[in-house]
Amino acid sequence: MLKSSGVKIVATLGPAINTEEKIEELIKSGASMFRVNSSHSTPEEHKKSIDMVRAVAKKLDTHSAVLLDLQGPKIRVGELEAPIEIKENEIILLQHADKQSDGIIPVDYEGIAKDVNANDKIYLDDGKLELKVISTDGTTVKAKVIRGGLLKPRKGLNLPGRTASLSAITSKDIEYIKRALEWNVDYIALSFVRTGEDILKAKHAMEMYGGYIPIIAKIEKPEALDNFDDIIKLADGVMVARGDLGIEISAEKVPAVQKRLIKESNIHNKVIIVATQMLETMIEQPIPTRAETSDVANAILDGADAIMLSGETSVGKYPVEAVKMMTKISENLEENGIIRHNYYSRKMEKFDNHEAFAMCQAMISMLENLPIKAIIAYTTNGYTPALLSKAKPSVPIYALCKQTSVCRQLNLCRDVIPVHYDWLQEISKQSIAEVNKLILKQLGLKNGDKVILTGVVPYIPGQTTNFIKLHTVSE
Ligand code: PEP
Repeated sequence: MLKSSGVKIVATLGPAINTEEKIEELIKSGASMFRVNSSHSTPEEHKKSIDMVRAVAKKLDTHSAVLLDLQGPKIRVGELEAPIEIKENEIILLQHADKQSDGIIPVDYEGIAKDVNANDKIYLDDGKLELKVISTDGTTVKAKVIRGGLLKPRKGLNLPGRTASLSAITSKDIEYIKRALEWNVDYIALSFVRTGEDILKAKHAMEMYGGYIPIIAKIEKPEALDNFDDIIKLADGVMVARGDLGIEISAEKVPAVQKRLIKESNIHNKVIIVATQMLETMIEQPIPTRAETSDVANAILDGADAIMLSGETSVGKYPVEAVKMMTKISENLEENGIIRHNYYSRKMEKFDNHEAFAMCQAMISMLENLPIKAIIAYTTNGYTPALLSKAKPSVPIYALCKQTSVCRQLNLCRDVIPVHYDWLQEISKQSIAEVNKLILKQLGLKNGDKVILTGVVPYIPGQTTNFIKLHTVSE
C-alpha cells in the first residue's frame, strides 16, 4: 500500500483506536505516524499498542512510524475522590500530595508551594480553569478561582515562568528512553524543552543505553523560543505543541510562533509537526468547525511536514472521520493549486551542506523545466529525500530505503513515499534496469515517463547526494 504524497498525519493512540481494525482504518484513511503518549496508561499497554501498529502496517505493506512522546516535567493534579466543581471567586488550597485530603487539591509537583508567589497565575486542564495565588507558606498554596469549571483527576497544571527548578528530563523519561530503544520506536518527543542542553541530556541518555532515536523537540515554553537557535541545531525535528504553548505564552501569540517555527525548521532541514486542537470539535461531533478546517489548511500552507491529532483520535467519537477530514483538506488544497511547490527558502542559501543543497536545488529546477513525474531517491539514512522534501516538490519523492527503520522515519516527511528496496551499490546498466522494473511494478509509473534518479551511490560514509540521472521509464 503506497500512500499518496503530501502532508503527513500523526494520530495519537488511545482507547478510541486501540484495536487492529481501527488502526487499519486510520492507516487507510491517511495516518502515517502514531503517537504514544507516555503520560497516560502503562508501559505494558504502550508496548501492546506499538506491536499492534507494527502488525497492521506489515499486513498493509506500509511503513507506519511510531512516536513515543515523553511526559517530561508535566505537572498534574493528583487523584481526586470525584471531579470537583470549582466556582469563580472561591478560595481553594493546593499542596504537594498524591491524593486529596481535607478538601486540599493534590499536585504531583514538590515545588508547587515553593515556586509560586502572590499574584501568580495557575492554570488547570489546558488553561480551561484559572487561579490567582493569594499566598503561600511553602507547604500550601492559597488561591482564588478566576475562571471556574469541573476539575477532574490527573489534569495538567501550568505555572508559566515558575518551573525553573524542574528537570527537563525526569527519571520516568529516562526509563522510557530505555524502553523506546528496546521497542525500536522511530521518534521520541521531548516535552517542555527549554534549552539545547535538554536535547543533549536526552542524547546522553540514549548513548548510555547504546542506541539513537531521532528527537522531536516539543516547543511549549517561552524559554524554548528564546533558545530556539540552539534547540533547532541539536534536535532532529520540532513540534509546535500548541496546547501547553497557548497557556505558557497565551493563545493569541500562538499563530505567529507557529509560522516562525515552521519557517526556521524548514530552513534547517528539520521535520516539523503542528499539533493540538486541530479538529477539536470532532472529539464530540462528526464535522469540524470552519475555523478548524482553515487551521489545518493554514498549517499545510505554512509548510508543516505533518499535522497531528490528539484527543480527536485517542478518546474522540470520530477518529477515522478526523483523519479522513485532514486528508480531504490536504487533497482539496492540492486540487485547487493553492500549495506552492518547488521552492527553497532564500535563507537556505546559508544551509551548511552546500553540496547536497546544490544537488537538490538542481533537481527542483529540473522539475520546473521538464515534464518529470517523480524523484526516485536511493537512500541509506534518509538525508537526500528529507532535504528534497523541504522544497515541497511538485512530484512525489519515492525514497528507496535498504532499511525499514529508515522507511518509517521518512514516513513523517512531507511528499516522501518510502519504499523498502535493496538497491545495488553502483550506477550501472543492470542497477538502472532493476530500478526501472520496480518503478513499473510498484510505483504506478509507465513507459515513457521521465523520472529523476538520485542518491549517494556508491555509498561513501560522510558523503551526501552525489548523483542525479534523468531516466525515461521503459518497458
Ligand atoms: C501540546 O501541549 O500541545 C502537546 C502536544 O502535548 P501533550 O499532548 O503531551 O500535552
